[in-house]
Amino acid sequence: MNAACLVKYKSFSLDSIDPRQRAWVEVFPSAIRDNTQVVKSLLAENCLLMAVVKADGYGHGAGTVAEAALEGGAANLGVATLQEALDLRKLGISCPILILGNLVNLKDLDACLNWDLIPTISSSREALLCQKIAESYEKKFNIHIKVDTGMTRLGCDISSLKSLINLIDTLENIELVGIYSHLALADGERHGQPEIITSLQKKRFNSLLSNFKPARQNLCRHLANSAGTFRDKALHFDMVRVGLALYGYKPFEDFADNCSLKPALAVRARITLIRDVPSHTGVSYGHDFITKRPTRLAVVGIGYADGINRALSGKISVLINGYFYPQVGSITMDQLVIDITENNDIRIGDVVTLLGEDKGSSITPYEWSQACGSIPWEILCSFKYRLPRVVI
Ligand SMILES: *Cc1c(COP(=O)(O)O)cnc(C)c1O
Repeated sequence: MNAACLVKYKSFSLDSIDPRQRAWVEVFPSAIRDNTQVVKSLLAENCLLMAVVKADGYGHGAGTVAEAALEGGAANLGVATLQEALDLRKLGISCPILILGNLVNLKDLDACLNWDLIPTISSSREALLCQKIAESYEKKFNIHIKVDTGMTRLGCDISSLKSLINLIDTLENIELVGIYSHLALADGERHGQPEIITSLQKKRFNSLLSNFKPARQNLCRHLANSAGTFRDKALHFDMVRVGLALYGYKPFEDFADNCSLKPALAVRARITLIRDVPSHTGVSYGHDFITKRPTRLAVVGIGYADGINRALSGKISVLINGYFYPQVGSITMDQLVIDITENNDIRIGDVVTLLGEDKGSSITPYEWSQACGSIPWEILCSFKYRLPRVVI
């Protein structure tokens, strides 16, 4: 870019610009801290809580979440990718970080060792790479083994666990510090198939742990996600890996409301235009909505390019000053339309809440996920870079 061009605008400071121009995500670190304490209070005293902050802290901002969760008593952090872990290190976060995904390149494992990150090992291939790297630096490489007890995704087969451990025992620069598995149906009903599979996974995990020699009993054993943590204390072992609950949502519908989690995020946008249209007017692309009466419509400056799934078109309501108004017509890339006929006091620039709390009323990711066949996890990590995260 032409430097002279920038000089022209230099007197106008970018710092003074409010990010809440059109649409934004508000993040409440105090809710994350409180939720961490609530979950911790469910655990035995010596059971650790790992805060899972993958996917940019489920869309809340990984750095913000990590700090708040550590303040609330989390012992360490879990991420999915090397880059997510490196980003946390760059922010100066020095606690142990476990990478839950599989790192397959020598270079990635090299960075992992040198930034003090813990990889997950599912096979002898990566164990041997770790040894090679650690040996070249004359360092010890701390690793966790993952074993598949029924998720059928990452992890070694139970039948090959013994040979993997025997191999690791011969690798001098590798220190096995943890062993874990992942639950497939813990967020399902508390009976039938989900209950059967979860018990089976618990049984398999317990039985493979009994193979470890007593000297190994200090290794960190973990199995439960949020749902497992709330479901059954016998799934806790030495540590639980909690994502969803830290962000303020219960992992299944019938979860007893004896502890209160607070949503840590709200999605808000402004009204950018108000229009009065007659009856029988088609609204937005495709005219999927036709007015049935003279209607006052408001255009809201947020759309599917911000992460408001187009499949929600005509199926959600929004909040203005604690009252609900229906969204009508197709959600478009940058805006959506709401019907505000009921209220003459709404003005251009007013703040609309799409998700989260507003004056005692609230809209949850559960409602959205039911409307568009998704799950709260996916809703939370769907908000795009175009929505600035405003930490409150
Ligand atoms: C994402 C993830 C978690 C956290 O799951 P929640 O349901 O959000 O609590 C735990 N463990 C692993 C391996 C994961 O990938």
